[in-house]
Amino acid sequence: MELFAIFGNPVSHSKSPLMHNRVFEKLHYPACYTRILLEDGKQLKERFFSLSLQGANITVPHKEAAFQACDEVRGFAKKVGVVNTIVEENGRLIGYNTDADGFLYAIRDFSDIHKVLVLGAGGTARALVQRFLDEKMSVTILNRSKERLKEFETLGSVECSTWDDFKLKHPFDLVVNTTSAGLQDASLPAPKEIISSILDATRYAADAIYGKQTPFLQEAKKRNIPYIDGLDMLLGQGVLANELFTRHTLQKEHIQKAMEGALIL
Ligand code: NDP
Repeated sequence: MELFAIFGNPVSHSKSPLMHNRVFEKLHYPACYTRILLEDGKQLKERFFSLSLQGANITVPHKEAAFQACDEVRGFAKKVGVVNTIVEENGRLIGYNTDADGFLYAIRDFSDIHKVLVLGAGGTARALVQRFLDEKMSVTILNRSKERLKEFETLGSVECSTWDDFKLKHPFDLVVNTTSAGLQDASLPAPKEIISSILDATRYAADAIYGKQTPFLQEAKKRNIPYIDGLDMLLGQGVLANELFTRHTLQKEHIQKAMEGALIL
């Protein structure tokens, strides 16, 4: 029996155990998936090996620490410095990022997305911004504090603002909340007047948070803006992570069908 886990803080809200265990059960893969509260990201590697895990997902706030913990990082994760999936290979930790592809999967029905505003500048934002740039989209970032914007400023083509200096210069096709605002509280990802002005000039909205309708999505709904929440993004990243965990022995379509079943339970 193989063992997998999700590391995070908080982690009790995570649906990942349900999703992956459903796949293992339905597709008769001999494995089990659990959740682990991790306070210090530096202890990730030690905890991973002491539990004899074969793979793991990493969530808030440890995705950058996970990048550091890996012996080797592959694909898109290497480009963005953020790891959400790790797999053990011959005693080494191999890191991947499946979040950005999961997000593109989630917005597949949104049309003509060229100008995107990203709220937040953490690990999720870093992955999505890089992927939007790869898709030749124009990207603006709005973050609470200045510190985390520095690395985005070095990208050159991204416009960065804090709450204090933000000015709405043009409408957006899509605004994405990648902050943790609304996850455990009822706060908006920026002051209400800023969020209102942005949503009044936006065609689509998305929130990375799942399991509840955030105050941000409530504001989008009031304006009849089509939106998605984090569930579809979660499903997309989960399918890709499960493919890695099961070393491509299961078919993506079968993983997806089983995982969708877990999300409607
Ligand atoms: P990080 O800790 O890396 O970044 C958090 C970001 O949120 C920072 O920009 C921070 O701003 C901002 N922030 C935190 N609290 C507030 C607040 N009260 N008001 C405004 N801004 C705030 O987190 P991640 O990028 O890893 O994750 C962010 C969110 O995305 C989480 O809610 C997570 O659950 C969700 N997520 C969902 C996924 C899915 O599959 N649906 C996948 C990945 C993440 P500052 O720099 O000022 O501190």
